[in-house]
Amino acid sequence: MLETMDTLKGRLKEKGSKLTPQRRATLNVIIENKGEHLNTEEIYELVRKDCPEIGLATVYRTLQLLEEMDIISRINLDDGCSRYEIKTDDEDHQHHHLICQECSKIIEVKIDLLDHLEKEIEKEYDFDIKDHKLKFFGLCTDCKQK
Ligand SMILES: [Zn+2]
Ligand SMILES: [Zn+2]
Ligand SMILES: [Zn+2]
Repeated sequence: MLETMDTLKGRLKEKGSKLTPQRRATLNVIIENKGEHLNTEEIYELVRKDCPEIGLATVYRTLQLLEEMDIISRINLDDGCSRYEIKTDDEDHQHHHLICQECSKIIEVKIDLLDHLEKEIEKEYDFDIKDHKLKFFGLCTDCKQK
């Protein structure tokens, strides 16, 4: 995941900006917690271990910047907070999320499965699909058995 850090460094440089220790620490937390879908507060708590002087506002701004630079993506799971995850090169489109309504667990569906639908839509509506965000709500394996 060193590559991601280099990508960020390059994109910041293009904009005449720098990879500050705060930005590095914030991205590191998201990389190290891949698959956790951490929210802003959770990221802040973890970044503080590396940068005790950092404020919530800085973390908030850094997350916005990382999103603008296409390094991370924001997921809204309708629970009132923004969650973030790293974008990976092997994914053209965002993977889907299964959200358990009982225990709030988030499960990732790695396969797109929408290729056929996307082609139909592009043809029917003369629309170029670049990405999508899909959430499924229900009960996970553990909660189904209760
Ligand atoms: Zn797709
Ligand atoms: Zn569950
Ligand atoms: Zn995810």
